[in-house]
Amino acid sequence: MPTIRARIDQIIEDVIRRNRGETEFHQAVREVAESLEPVLRKHPEYAEHKIIERICEPERQIIFRVPWEDDRGEVQINRGFRVGFNSALGPYKGGLRFHPSVYLGIIKFLGFEQVFKNAITGMPIGGAKGGADFDPKGKSDGEVMRFCQSFMTELYRHLGEITDVPAGDIGVGTREIGYLFGQYKRITNRYESGVLTGKGPHWGGALVRREATGYGLVYFADEMLKARGEAIDGKTCVVSGSGNVAIYAIQKLQMLGAKVIACSDSDSAVLDPAGINVDTLIKLKEVERKRLRHYAEVHPTARCLEPRALWTISCEMALPCATQNELHAEDARNLIANGCTLVAEGANMPTTPAAIRLLSEAQVAFGPGKAANAGGVATSALEMQQNASRDAWTFEYTERRLHEIMRRIHHDCHEAASEFGTPGNYVLGANIVGFRRVAEAMLAFGLI
Ligand code: GLU
Repeated sequence: MPTIRARIDQIIEDVIRRNRGETEFHQAVREVAESLEPVLRKHPEYAEHKIIERICEPERQIIFRVPWEDDRGEVQINRGFRVGFNSALGPYKGGLRFHPSVYLGIIKFLGFEQVFKNAITGMPIGGAKGGADFDPKGKSDGEVMRFCQSFMTELYRHLGEITDVPAGDIGVGTREIGYLFGQYKRITNRYESGVLTGKGPHWGGALVRREATGYGLVYFADEMLKARGEAIDGKTCVVSGSGNVAIYAIQKLQMLGAKVIACSDSDSAVLDPAGINVDTLIKLKEVERKRLRHYAEVHPTARCLEPRALWTISCEMALPCATQNELHAEDARNLIANGCTLVAEGANMPTTPAAIRLLSEAQVAFGPGKAANAGGVATSALEMQQNASRDAWTFEYTERRLHEIMRRIHHDCHEAASEFGTPGNYVLGANIVGFRRVAEAMLAFGLI
């Protein structure tokens, strides 16, 4: 019999061999698998039934052609993806990403993460992810609409409110969900609200869904601080990104008395010692769809830096909310040297493994995305509940539910970390909580 450690190493090796070149997927699997050694020791039945091996193989992977016509009448071809990773706990659930970097390995890493994240929320949702290598940057409204319609013309046959429920991610917001929902409704002849989440509030969307990932992240960070006897009030923060997650994380941080002095996009970082103005961010990014550097034209206290210079700014809290592998070992060293004591991930896998190691060694509290950014998908699950009951909830009620969910997620991850002898290690805690829930359901279903 191989030792548990050897068995885990073998699983990782097999994943690398069977999914060649998909480096982000390898990274996500390694991070989870390596933390499961104590769980397998306690539950030999998981190893016996090859639960980890089965979880690492997506249940289904759909790849399709997305042809569309641009404004000049030229034909364009993109590649669409939907990976239904695991449906042990509920219908496939997870966002769609439209970004030129999208390929199968990105969708699989995101889908894999989503399985655990969704389980951690405690809501009845399986894990999935999808998207396309379409670049929405610089495209007209009409081009985005035609792309979304073509994308849905293939994808609709794989979806359904109890089968697979996409939502947004990078490059997919309420506008895109609107075009996708409109096309789904038209093709299927069904006003099936629960087939997509992140809808507009007037056509079935949950209030707070827009704010949910960012607000949830800050609630989670608040719990992390409380567990150390600290508070958000008065803390200096930097937030990477300036999309949906970053904007509403900044807003909630400010509501709780923090000072947010910097954020970024892929072109630049903006440092505003007077505090980032959220209204300007919303106007620039959500209404005018402009680059962040224009922020400095409106606020003379602000100055533009290279995007990566963000991590050299002195702060007590850093929230990476842009994209995968954006915070490197060198950035972690800078944050530690400048007095940062908390990092919580608003994006999916933004911190490299080497950076996580450095932060942990330096006793910086680290909140992994699977737990810290789960408020978005949890509110999607609330939207599904709302749609199933044909109801409409208030902002206050929905936000209260989100807050309770984030508190519970923190509690569960914190407890699991202590149970397995690594108090304060949220990476281990989150992986264990998510894995155990999925594993128990898979065991109950037999070999399927
Ligand atoms: N894309 C988001 C995430 O990474 C949201 C998914 C959803 O709401 O289904 O969790």
